[in-house]
Amino acid sequence: MSRKINERVSSIEPSGIRRFFDLVVGRRDIISLGVGEPDFPVPWSVRESMIYSLERGWTSYTSNRGLKELRDGIAEYYKRFGVETSGDNILITTGVSEGLDLALRAVINPGDVALIPEPCYVAYKPLTFLAYGEPVEIPTYPNFKLNYDKLKSYERFEPKVLIINYPNNPTGVTYSKRELEEIADFVFENDMIVVSDEIYAELTYKGRHLSLASLNGMEERTIVLNGFSKSYAMTGLRIGYAIAPDEIIDAMTKIHQYSMLCAPITSQIGALEALKVELERVRAEYMRKRNYFVNRLRRFLNVKMPEGAFYAFPSIRGTGLSSEEFAERLLKEKGVAVVPGNAFGRSGEGYIRCAYAVSMEKLKVAVERIGEFVESLKS
Ligand code: PLP
Repeated sequence: MSRKINERVSSIEPSGIRRFFDLVVGRRDIISLGVGEPDFPVPWSVRESMIYSLERGWTSYTSNRGLKELRDGIAEYYKRFGVETSGDNILITTGVSEGLDLALRAVINPGDVALIPEPCYVAYKPLTFLAYGEPVEIPTYPNFKLNYDKLKSYERFEPKVLIINYPNNPTGVTYSKRELEEIADFVFENDMIVVSDEIYAELTYKGRHLSLASLNGMEERTIVLNGFSKSYAMTGLRIGYAIAPDEIIDAMTKIHQYSMLCAPITSQIGALEALKVELERVRAEYMRKRNYFVNRLRRFLNVKMPEGAFYAFPSIRGTGLSSEEFAERLLKEKGVAVVPGNAFGRSGEGYIRCAYAVSMEKLKVAVERIGEFVESLKS
């Protein structure tokens, strides 16, 4: 039977995050810093708008592209990240996940090279591969940042696409305008398309997020992906969007109309309401958790202060354990789930990813247990 399965599908590995997630399902004694999921409920106004729409019986398909009011609302909203666009250049997707799949399928021809800085979100390489592209990883260890020189050494692959994510999962790194301009220079020189995953844009702790599409000329070659999962705690509602130039958004819509038809109307209505929610308090709360967790963790492990998202990415190199050994033993011996850094690419080896989007109480216990575990390795 296995010969009947598509070769590319057979050869990809299941997500390393899910493997750890499955280990903790149903175990109440475990504190999970494993999955990147907000710990607060979706804002009440969003829930109310969805309940109301269901009461009115609004359960039909929407247009393939999504509700016009939502697309126009997103165009208005994205001005805060420096992008001037219109609802016509926006496609509502079932999460950034679908947007990513559509973007890659829309621009990649068999054999086209996509540059993927890593460590990176787990979906980039498999989805590039499934779109019949060739993912080429750019290790970014030790500062986890891309720059012009690093990119230049990959010119020989004649890349067509660059997939970038900032603030970054799993490293928490983000980019300044000057750093983005360096990346844009390379993109122009090589006539490339960028897929810019900005899902953590609102969770930027230093300054304001600036979209790659806001740089001069980059709006013509950038597919911005964003969504409601992280900032508004809407992970299970599966709602996101893509902003792209005319031809690309049309191509993505073509795939979307056959494979998805439209994003769920209830989630679209919730998203429209979410755009009105002020995120200042959410950001401040995550920053409080970040400061507490990272400062505590620094007593035992080397860790950079994340500039965005809700992940800390400490080095465990000093412990003599591999990332997987560390994560497995921490889970077994101390009941704390984290994700081994190598789940995000080879240059994540020697690190673990801790999602600090849990309650302060859990965070306090988790960091003490991690400390006890590291100390126990010394004896
Ligand atoms: N992109 C990044 C960088 C992520 O971390 C995640 C989820 O963890 C996703 C995309 C998936 O987002 P969505 O829930 O919108 O599909």
